Amino acid sequence: MTQPTSLPATSHSTLRDASCADDYDPNSMPVDRARALIARFLTPLTATERVHVRSALGRVLAEDVISPINVPAHDNSAMDGFAVRFADLKGDGEVTLKVVGSSFAGKPFAGKMQTGEAVRIMTGAVMPPEGDSIVMQEHAQAKDGKVTIGTGHLLNQNLRRAGEDLAIGQVALKRGLPLRPAEVGLISSIGIGEVTVFRKLRVAFFSTGDELVSIGSVPGAGQIFDSNRYTIHGMLTRLNCEVIDMGVVRDDPALIEAAFATAATNADVVITSGGVSVGEADFVKDMLNKLGEVLFWKIAMKPGRPLAYGKIGGAHFFGLPGNPVSVMVTFYQFVRDALLVLGGQNPVPPLPTFKVPCTSALKKAPGRTEFQRGILSQGAAGAWSVRVTGEQGSGILRSMAEANCFIILPTDQGNVVAGALVEVQVMEGSV
Ligand code: AMP
Ligand code: MG
Repeated sequence: MTQPTSLPATSHSTLRDASCADDYDPNSMPVDRARALIARFLTPLTATERVHVRSALGRVLAEDVISPINVPAHDNSAMDGFAVRFADLKGDGEVTLKVVGSSFAGKPFAGKMQTGEAVRIMTGAVMPPEGDSIVMQEHAQAKDGKVTIGTGHLLNQNLRRAGEDLAIGQVALKRGLPLRPAEVGLISSIGIGEVTVFRKLRVAFFSTGDELVSIGSVPGAGQIFDSNRYTIHGMLTRLNCEVIDMGVVRDDPALIEAAFATAATNADVVITSGGVSVGEADFVKDMLNKLGEVLFWKIAMKPGRPLAYGKIGGAHFFGLPGNPVSVMVTFYQFVRDALLVLGGQNPVPPLPTFKVPCTSALKKAPGRTEFQRGILSQGAAGAWSVRVTGEQGSGILRSMAEANCFIILPTDQGNVVAGALVEVQVMEGSV
């Protein structure tokens, strides 16, 4: 499946141009098409800041990290054993060498190793410069200050060379890379304490709906708790965004317009939920077309049919549907990758998917891509399979809470019989 990656933004092209293509149908927009269209308008931010490595986790490198040292810094031993001169060993019999000292990690051998001599050496310890090979201790008999070594050894064996992992001046990590614990460790291993990262992407969001109350209030007749703002807050926090929670905005054109204007001046990205479905979309549509350029799509997907995307001032806008599951599915299928691109990550690889047998029979009508919620588990014999989390209604947030993967059923797919292979996308680590 194609995902938005780091396609260059086409400055001369506008959203309206994009919507003039022959095959452009806002009422049945394929998932891939919508992703590709959005990707055309994503210009990564350029502002940077310096952070200590300890605060760098999850941030995106804004410059290459160049190694100021060789790693390892010295030739050193890959084994516990004896440092020797290969020329002292015999191809056809044993040789006994005098052990003249030892080299420990952090405490190198201080003397000179002459012909006929060996140095006891531990893993990671500096190789005496006169030696060229390490004989592992299991292949040597040490006794009374001497060591006896047999045949079958190779020049330079068990030796790690200075600069073998990274040479001075080599790019250790590339600009655009998100920092995980491994990268944080690597940066520290070359003695660097601060790195330049892109500033966090600022994302403003609000919920729309007269029926919504925030937690802490008591819902009146016909009112429901706003949950979307909290899932959106969580999803953005996971992506290391700076979040601007603007609360619930009533379905009142003046209030919504004011909220859009404030959001677009304060943030790089504006995300809303609700108000983009047929019936509600009309006044939002008119208003947004006044403030910027926004396209309203009915995506050929389930759940998550209505989606709006565009620019309001300099900010990107994602108008997500109101239903709580649709919010999450559209966020992960469209917004997540876009936010990563905008935040400077490059490349943004697609989330991996793979096929496993599905133990549930699935109902599916051809014509749109479905993202059913699944539970991937390992059977007694060790093989993985997936089953669907009960009811799949787009308002049933429990189906997301119980799931650990999406089951992705492609557009043309019909019903799935139990036991058939289906494509899954694991949520662990990505949500
Ligand atoms: P809408 O797209 O505004 O018509 O909303 C579709 C459905 O999602 C309706 O049942 C709404 O009550 C519900 N909904 C909209 N916004 C939220 C929200 N923030 N939290 C929970 N449910 C919502
Ligand atoms: Mg609504």
